[in-house]
Amino acid sequence: MNEDLLAAARHAQERLIEAERDAEVARAEFHRAVRRLHLHGGSLREMGPALGLSHQRVHQMVESAGGSRRWSPRRAVRRMAGCTFCGQAEQEAGPLIAGPGVYICAACAALASDVLGAEGPAEPGPLRAVPGQDVRERCSFCGKYRMECTGLAATQPGGRAAQTAAICGECLMLCAEIIAERDS
Ligand SMILES: [Zn+2]
Ligand SMILES: [Zn+2]
Repeated sequence: MNEDLLAAARHAQERLIEAERDAEVARAEFHRAVRRLHLHGGSLREMGPALGLSHQRVHQMVESAGGSRRWSPRRAVRRMAGCTFCGQAEQEAGPLIAGPGVYICAACAALASDVLGAEGPAEPGPLRAVPGQDVRERCSFCGKYRMECTGLAATQPGGRAAQTAAICGECLMLCAEIIAERDS
């Protein structure tokens, strides 16, 4: 086999993989932007024509980015609820962001973002990045499986969390938005 041509083929392959990843990130970004528009009062029927899409397609995008139901930052949190990821009560951990039967505090959301970052966490901690080939793990907030999300941070098996929980990169972005809105 011609080594130079092989190197050229590998190089082209890497560029394709990179471009596909960029496209994936851009798509997720687009879907989040569409969802945000919807959460801020845009109806599917007016958003479709405005974006040159059918309202069914807009609906799919909203769903793929986390659905039309906005997680409640505080009101829906039952008293005594704690962060599912670190086990701390709301009094210690601060306001929790609620998903379906799952809660996350701002510190755990920040830690999960670190775990999923390119650099990884500074030191091994209570959260881990679920490897891409792990097909069973899913996000506790949106229900997406590992392969459907860009990244998934999960509690360590046997860690201090009361139950195992995981959060995906897309849901973490929504958490960051909720926290930013809350702090502003
Ligand atoms: Zn926590
Ligand atoms: Zn998720």
